[in-house]
Amino acid sequence: MVSRVIPVDTFDLVIFGATGDLATRKILPALYRRDLAGQLAEGARIIGAARTEFTDDTWRAEVRSVLDETLPADLRDTVALDRFLGRLGYVPIDVRGEAGWPELAARMRADVVQAYYFSVGPSLFGDLAQRLHVHGMNTAECRIVVEKPFGHDLETARALNATLAAHFDEHQIYRIDHYLGKETVQNLMAIRFGNMLFEPLWNAQYVDHIQITVAETVGVAGRGGYYDKSGAMRDMVQNHMMQLLCLIAMEPPYAFEPDAVRDEKLKVIRALDPVQPADIVRGQYAAGNGHASYLDDAENPASRTESFIALKAHVSSWRWKGTPFYLRTGKRMRARTSEIAITFKDPPHSIFGAQEGQKSNVLAIRLQPNEGIKLKVTIKEPGPGGMRLVEVPLDMSFAEALGTSDRDIADAYERLIMDVIRGNQTLFMRGDEVEAAWAWTDPIIAAWESREEVPQSYDPGSSGPEDALMLMHRDGRRWREVKP
Ligand code: NAP
Repeated sequence: MVSRVIPVDTFDLVIFGATGDLATRKILPALYRRDLAGQLAEGARIIGAARTEFTDDTWRAEVRSVLDETLPADLRDTVALDRFLGRLGYVPIDVRGEAGWPELAARMRADVVQAYYFSVGPSLFGDLAQRLHVHGMNTAECRIVVEKPFGHDLETARALNATLAAHFDEHQIYRIDHYLGKETVQNLMAIRFGNMLFEPLWNAQYVDHIQITVAETVGVAGRGGYYDKSGAMRDMVQNHMMQLLCLIAMEPPYAFEPDAVRDEKLKVIRALDPVQPADIVRGQYAAGNGHASYLDDAENPASRTESFIALKAHVSSWRWKGTPFYLRTGKRMRARTSEIAITFKDPPHSIFGAQEGQKSNVLAIRLQPNEGIKLKVTIKEPGPGGMRLVEVPLDMSFAEALGTSDRDIADAYERLIMDVIRGNQTLFMRGDEVEAAWAWTDPIIAAWESREEVPQSYDPGSSGPEDALMLMHRDGRRWREVKP
């Protein structure tokens, strides 16, 4: 099944930080792929801005060489690439200086969608918002796109929100969490609210527990300085995993509309209980398998930052009271995988007696790799040997079921940037959601900081520290295997 491409309106998109890593690796390739797919209107334009002194032509040449180097062979199309490069322009700007702004303002067209991508460090957001205002570019209909981190804690998140709110209305601010742009994450909502099958069972009465795992095989080498100030809780749990938890736990929104969805997510975050210290395990990867330890990668031998965290959370609501949510994320783990697994309770009575093959139903939703869903069900083992039960998976890879390749499934950035142009904020975080998530996270971090807690060491290529296994064992449950 080939996905339908609905062209978006003509736009002027300015990328501040156009020469940086994010713009080069994600934003520009995503825009090229949407152009290749035929989604960009003829007059759509992309204007790069950064301090490096490029002209329109030299930046185009730079982008051409980056795309030539990085695009897979089957996406290299000379005609499409020339068309895409023809959309590009560049204005040298120091966000903190005055030069370049009048030229940028003169290039913006009043009759098309105007979007400004803040692909620069958050310390520049204030200057950026202020200069856009001074030069008359913060029109009522323009949009700004901002990237995580949305603060380091509640106080800094509030300050950041206030900085943006000084010149832009909330409906103009698109806070990107690229997890929300993943096909399967949106499928969570389709599965829950597009089917009658699951929703009646989607509560504490029928669900035993939920596991959310985001495991990476990479370490922090190369970005240790940044990561060491953040750690798994700030880098992963407060944002990506919190969003996944919200989509699993939220009540049905009245419509698939931005504020309807975000209102329901916010209620979930506010209903999260504080997490007890005994329900958290933090880890740091040791050296091994030819890789350096976290402490070496972070170049900080005294670091107490966690590269792994596992915790048990509770949502205090009618729907979820008593059903634990186990969250686990880490670096240098056995495999790269992101998965949500909903384990249902056992049938109240087994008419087959105690049988090994009868296991709980599990609905596992794989976000990466190989996006898809798997439902474990119990059936009769084939053959004449009597009624013996066996567990089998109903396994659906979206790529196979829909006849699409992984590449056809639009990258999260492609989808999210197109949503910015469409003016659809459903998959972007609202300021109050971000603040509520920090309000839950801050006391947890403060508690371990006040105890000067040192994370436990774990072997690279493992599933994390031993105590993480115990976190579930002591509840009579076990983590699902971390496997590709
Ligand atoms: P980066 O590689 O350091 O790029 C920073 C960009 O900002 C460069 O283009 C730089 O260009 C420009 N810049 C710096 N100071 C400037 C100034 N005073 N005026 C104008 N431009 C200036 O950073 P990045 O990795 O692309 O990250 C950008 C933002 O996205 C950050 O907030 C980061 O936290 C966030 N983010 C990045 C990733 C990722 O995968 N990279 C993922 C999630 C979030 P010049 O030196 O030419 O000025």
